[in-house]
Order: sequence, then C-alpha cells, then structure tokens
Amino acid sequence: MANTNKGEVMLKMTDIYKAYEEVEVLKGIDIEVRRGEVLAIIGPSGSGKSTLLRCINKLETIDKGSIAIKDKFLVQTQDGEAVYASGKEEREILASTGMVFQQFNLFPHMTVLENLLEAPMQVKGLKRSEVEPYARELLEKVGLSDRADYYPSQLSGGQQQRVAIARALCMKPDIMLFDEPTSALDPELTGEVLKTMRELAAEHMTMVVVTHEMAFAREAASHVIFMADGNIVEEGEPAAFFAEPKEERTKAFLQNML
Ligand code: ADP
Ligand code: MG
Repeated sequence: MANTNKGEVMLKMTDIYKAYEEVEVLKGIDIEVRRGEVLAIIGPSGSGKSTLLRCINKLETIDKGSIAIKDKFLVQTQDGEAVYASGKEEREILASTGMVFQQFNLFPHMTVLENLLEAPMQVKGLKRSEVEPYARELLEKVGLSDRADYYPSQLSGGQQQRVAIARALCMKPDIMLFDEPTSALDPELTGEVLKTMRELAAEHMTMVVVTHEMAFAREAASHVIFMADGNIVEEGEPAAFFAEPKEERTKAFLQNML
C-alpha cells in the first residue's frame, strides 16, 4: 500500500492571488491540509488571513490560482482566468465546508435549535425529523442541550459561539473553517469555545483555524502557518515553530503575543 501515515488531501490551495482594487492582499499562497489535520493560521492584522479563509467558501473570489476540496476543484485558473465550478457541483463543494465567524452570525430571530435545522432543511432539503435528532446530539456535544429553545440574545457570547459551531457541524462538513472564533469574547468565555474546538480536533475533524490563541495553536494544531502582508512567511509543526522560529518577522510577532 502507498503512503499510510498521511491521510487524504482535503484542501489544496495553489498559488492563490487576490487583490482588492489595486491592493494585492494574497500574493501566491500555497496550502495543503490532509484529513484530520488542524491548520492554525496566525499573523498580524491585515495580513490576509480572513481573506484566505473566505476564499475557501467563496465569500471572496480569487484572481488566480486553484482551490480544491478533496478531489473537486472549486476554482482553477485556465488561460490566466479563474474559472469556478458551477451549479450542483459548486453547491456540493461549498456545502462540504463549515464556517465559524468572529461575530457568531447566528440568525437572531430563530431559536438555537432552529438555527441548527435551517441549513440542512433549506440547503439539503432534509425533513425536520431527519435532522432534529442529530441537531440535538450536537447541542449535547457542545454542552447546550438545555438551551435548544433559547434565542441567541438570551445566551452568552461563549454559548452563542458554541451554537455557531454546532450549526456548522449540522451540515456534516468535511472541513471546518474558523476565523478568530474567540476574538469577540470576554477572556473568561474563550476557554469553553477552545475546549469545544480541541474536542473536535481530537475527533479528527479537519480544521483550518485563524487564531490569536497561541496556546491553542501550539497544542491543538498539527501545522502552523505565519502570514504577513499576503505571504506565508514561515510554517512548520507547532513544537519546532514556536520553540525555534527562523524568520525575524515571526520572532517579532511571537514576542508580541506573549
Ligand atoms: P486579516 O484577517 O489578516 O486581518 P484581512 O484578510 O481581513 O486580514 O485583510 C487583508 C487586507 O485586505 C487588509 O489590508 C484589508 O484592509 C484588505 N481588505 C479586506 N477586505 C477588504 C474589502 N472587502 N475591500 C477592500 N479591502 C479589503
Ligand atoms: Mg481577519
């Protein structure tokens, strides 16, 4: 049998370029994430981390490069133009990623349970009876089974973010994307969200996590990427990356985070 210690490639981004107007924000980014890996992306504000993440689920489009999720291309460059998948294929690719935002982005007029049921029913066309048991299981998993009938405004930020994670999981994604999921939280509430994320990682969920939580990156990530000015400056396995950063830029950034 071929290579047994490395899993299937779940996400491959090749030579990604993206500009807003004239400003180049991503300048040739390459990323590969295999099944069960947790990629942590760190770097200063404005370095392009959110943009990169948003390109994976087409909240932003790219100018050049390719993005594949498992064996399907979301976008490929042909004759210098970024050509996107379309129709059913694109919907399937996009449905295979789940995203968790800094600002939770729950539907405010829906209960917690309804937030979880919405996409599986509307996007996948499943019946309530087909989704609800799984939704309740996920609420149990994030420690919120007693909050199913609450509205988001009746929950703490940490609870809302755990609902957002459960909501994304309810679509049974292959990859979970997190954009600074704890940055909007009071410090005493970050722990409960990070715990949920650590549990997901331990269950081998494939994850891409933009974060300022260096302890999480060091302990839960399988790979760390440091971005600055639209480039990957340095990357590596967390133990070596944090113990012996090589680039001056990385060292300066890490020093500031302590
Ligand atoms: P990060 O998440 O690392 O802080 P972002 O990806 O949000 O970085 O932003 C990277 C750069 O792109 C920044 O200079 C930011 O001002 C710019 N930018 C982000 N979104 C937009 C947008 N919608 N229009 C114009 N410029 C943008
Ligand atoms: Mg950002």
